[in-house]
Amino acid sequence: MPQTATDTDILVVGAGPVGLFLANECARRGLRYRIVEAHPTQSEHSKALAIMPRTLEIFDMAGIVEPFAACANRVTWATMFSHGRKIAQIHFQPEESPYPFVAMVPQDVTERLLVEELRRKGGGVEYETSFVAAEQQDDCVNATLNRQGGRINLTAKFVAGCDGAHSTVRHVLNLPFEGAVYNAVFMLADMETNDALRADEMQLCPHEHGPLAIFPMSATRRRFVATVEKEDGDAPSLESVRQMLTERGPAGIEARSLVWSSYFRIHHRQVAQLRKGRIFVAGDAAHIHSPMGGQGMNTGLQDIWNLVWKLDLAVQGRAGDHLLDSYTAERRPVIKHVIDMTDFMTRAMAMPSKLAQAARDTVIPAVSRLAPFQHAFVERLSELGVAYQGSPMVEGAGKRYFDDSLRGGAGIQSRFLLFVPAESSVVDSAKQLCAAHNGILELRPAQHTGITLVRPDGYIAYASSHDDAESLQTVRSVLDRQRN
Ligand SMILES: Cc1cc2nc3c(=O)[nH]c(=O)nc-3n(C[C@H](O)[C@H](O)[C@H](O)COP(=O)(O)OP(=O)(O)OC[C@H]3O[C@@H](n4cnc5c(N)ncnc54)[C@H](O)[C@@H]3O)c2cc1C
Repeated sequence: MPQTATDTDILVVGAGPVGLFLANECARRGLRYRIVEAHPTQSEHSKALAIMPRTLEIFDMAGIVEPFAACANRVTWATMFSHGRKIAQIHFQPEESPYPFVAMVPQDVTERLLVEELRRKGGGVEYETSFVAAEQQDDCVNATLNRQGGRINLTAKFVAGCDGAHSTVRHVLNLPFEGAVYNAVFMLADMETNDALRADEMQLCPHEHGPLAIFPMSATRRRFVATVEKEDGDAPSLESVRQMLTERGPAGIEARSLVWSSYFRIHHRQVAQLRKGRIFVAGDAAHIHSPMGGQGMNTGLQDIWNLVWKLDLAVQGRAGDHLLDSYTAERRPVIKHVIDMTDFMTRAMAMPSKLAQAARDTVIPAVSRLAPFQHAFVERLSELGVAYQGSPMVEGAGKRYFDDSLRGGAGIQSRFLLFVPAESSVVDSAKQLCAAHNGILELRPAQHTGITLVRPDGYIAYASSHDDAESLQTVRSVLDRQRN
C-alpha cells in the first residue's frame, strides 16, 4: 500500500526536559522530527533538581552526560533527622554504576544543556507554537498547530505528547488521568544558607506537621521542599522558611536569602494507557506524583529512553504493534512503583500520631543499618533497579545491562547487541543471525560464558549461561517478537 507523504517522522509536543531529550534522541538516530513549544522561551525555574544514577547512565549512552556531570553538585549521603536528631544515615554510592551519586542540577540548567545539545546536532525548538488537535490515519497523524494565532497543519508518522501535567495531547486522546490530589500544600524554596550542612548530603526530616526534605544545590545553596497546611501569601517568605527550619530542620542550618520560592499542590495520577494508535504520552503528561524522592523528571526521561528506539524501528518498518504496545506494558509498572514509593515516603514522614512517630523513629534507625535495606533503598532511588520482567518483549528478568562499550553516544543506538564469547562454537551461527537482522542486530564478544541479548535501551532481552544452538534459537524467537 502506498504510504502517505509525511512532513516529519516524529512530532514532539512540549520542550520541557522530556520533550527535549526525545528531540535529542531523534536527532542522534537520524530521524526526522519537529519539536514545538507553546511558550516563547525555556522556563527559568529550577524545579526538578535530582538526576539519578540510571538517568546519568542513559545520558552517557546518549552521548550527552559530560556537561551534566561537570556542573552537578554530587550527593552521596542521605540522612534522616527527627526533631533535630540524626536517626539514620545511608551511603548513597551504588558500586555497579560509573555514576555513584545523585547529580543536583537545577531544571533550568538541564533544559539549557539539552537545548544546546540539540543545536549542536543541527536542531532547534519551534517556540510559540502550540499543539491544538490531531486526527489519526492508518499510517500517519494529521496534527493542527497554532503559531501566534495562525493555524499550521502538519503530518507526522507519530506524535509524542511531552506537554506536561495539563497535557493537551492527553486530552485529545481522551485518556483519564487517574489518581487524587494531596490535601497538603507543598512549599519549595531555593535559599542561600550558611555551610552548616554537608554539600554531599541530602536530609529528610519527618515531622508531625509534614515532612521537610533538604537538597544541596552547592556548598551554600539549598532546596527546601516541605508540606504545609495552607499557603501564607503568594510564595513562601524568608521568614516562613526560617520558622519551618526551626520547627523541623537539623540544628545549625541558617537560611540567609531567598532565591526562588513557590507553593504548589501535588496530585498523584497516571494514565492507564501511554499509547493510542500513533500518539504517545510521556513524562508529566502521563504521570505526576509527590516530589519526595526526586523521581519525577527521571521517570519521564526514562519513558523516552524506553520509547524512542521502538519508534525508530517502527519508522523503519521493522517494528510491529506489539513492540509499540510494550511501551505501556513496560512503563506502567515502573510508574506505579514510583507513585507508590513517593506516596509512602510522603505519608510516612508526616505521621501525626505520637505513637506512630515513636515507632517510626525506633524502627528506621535499626532497619537502616541493615545492608539489605541500604541496598534496596539505593537501588530504588537510583532507578538502577528498574527492570522489565514480565514484558512480552523480554525473556527473563529484563534487568539493566551496562558496560563501557555502550557509552559515548555511538555505543548503542536502535540496534540489539548480541554478546557471544569469541571462541564459542556458535559464533558462525550468531554471525548469520546478525546478517539476517542487518542493521538491528550487532555481534559483540562476550567477556564471560553464555549468550546475552541486550536491547537498544540497555536492558537484557534474554540471557543464557550456555552458548549453544538452543540459546541462539531463543534469541531468534525473542527478536521475532519485536516485529510482530
Ligand atoms: C514548582 C515545581 C517544583 C518541582 N519540583 C520538583 C522536584 O523537586 N523534583 C522533581 O523530580 N520534580 C519536580 N517538579 C516536577 C518536574 O518539574 C517535572 O516532573 C518535569 O518538569 C517534567 O518534565 P516534562 O518535560 O514532562 O513536562 P514539563 O516540564 O511540564 O514540560 C512540558 C512543556 O510542554 C509545553 N506545552 C504544554 N502544552 C503545550 C502544547 N499544547 N503545545 C506545545 N507545548 C506545550 C509547556 O509549556 C512545557 O514547556 C516540580 C514541578 C514544579 C511545577
